[in-house]
Amino acid sequence: MANWLQGEITQNKQWNQRLFSLRVRLQTQAPKFKAGQFVRIALEIGGEIVARPYSLVNAPDDDELEVYFNIVPEGPLTPQLAQLQTGDSVLVGEKASGFLVIDEIPECKYLWLFATGTGIGPFLSILKTAQPWQRFEKIVLAYSVRTRDELAYLDLIRNLQTQHPGQFSFVPLFTREVGADALSTRIPEAISSGSLEARTGITLSADDSHLMMCGNSEMITEVSSLLETRGMRRHRRREPGHITTEKYH
Ligand SMILES: Cc1cc2nc3c(=O)[nH]c(=O)nc-3n(C[C@H](O)[C@H](O)[C@H](O)COP(=O)(O)OP(=O)(O)OC[C@H]3O[C@@H](n4cnc5c(N)ncnc54)[C@H](O)[C@@H]3O)c2cc1C
Repeated sequence: MANWLQGEITQNKQWNQRLFSLRVRLQTQAPKFKAGQFVRIALEIGGEIVARPYSLVNAPDDDELEVYFNIVPEGPLTPQLAQLQTGDSVLVGEKASGFLVIDEIPECKYLWLFATGTGIGPFLSILKTAQPWQRFEKIVLAYSVRTRDELAYLDLIRNLQTQHPGQFSFVPLFTREVGADALSTRIPEAISSGSLEARTGITLSADDSHLMMCGNSEMITEVSSLLETRGMRRHRRREPGHITTEKYH
């Protein structure tokens, strides 16, 4: 039986019709976690506990937890999560897990972060900590969404650009809209056409890069097989590689 911690919603921020972020304060101490990890979030629905994993967006030293999600209309949990109000109760798993963390990455010069949609969450947590800025010469964040109104947390990303000029390269990608400052394509095509590397001025190669990907499994699978041809392979503790992933769906 899972042990659940009692949490209270302190904020439900609606970014657009389908995108929300919840901040949660726990009655007891929050689970210790490393930036990039996830916890299970649950609600009691119809007498049953319905739980799903969610990456934490907050930094590990934040007093409150934050998760970012989209409504899956046919899903049991997300339509209910979206309706939560300040003061409502939510259950949080007592342990955080996941390998999408900086500690796991071998020494290299460039860190590439590829997110689709809500997959941006764990990267924001990572970028709020000092560790990646101390370790990597350059960090690229490629954030793929369908349309501009799905580009959540833009203020936070703009702040990072101001704090780390030269070291941080932010590349928004819109798949269903043309934007002057964005690449109008999917991440796999931006790699195969060379437009992503042209935009960042560095090369995505096995020599000096590590890539973390989060979100849609189709994007992750496509990019992984594209990069195989460049000698980049999945990173495992026992067999160090260049690619770390977290598939949401
Ligand atoms: C390790 C891990 C971390 C995750 N972290 C996050 C997170 O931070 N934010 C987040 O939004 N989701 C995250 N997810 C997905 C999340 O756990 C739920 O599956 C999702 O929120 C839908 O929940 P649901 O109960 O409404 O529907 P579910 O019963 O979980 O799913 C219903 C259907 O929708 C598909 N689906 C799941 N997620 C999505 C999605 N985002 N868009 C479209 N279809 C989807 C499922 O594959 C399934 O076919 C994570 C998943 C994993 C495995």
